[in-house]
Amino acid sequence: MKYLVWLIILVLAYAWWRSQRRTQCPPTATQPAPQAMVVCAHCGLHLPRTEALTVRQRYYCCADHQRQNVG
Ligand SMILES: [Zn+2]
Repeated sequence: MKYLVWLIILVLAYAWWRSQRRTQCPPTATQPAPQAMVVCAHCGLHLPRTEALTVRQRYYCCADHQRQNVG
């Protein structure tokens, strides 16, 4: 019975040690999410959503095309 107590303590200590290590060095293996592509509502150009101008749930590749469609 005494060994069981020590075993539990060791398992808990190991689990704690693992959790400490995980907080110290965050995983770098997480891959970046695939870039979402959108289409310009004016000229049909494909571009990353982060670079697109969004107006009324429509995407534009540049301010010119946005202006020509929105007014
Ligand atoms: Zn465009």
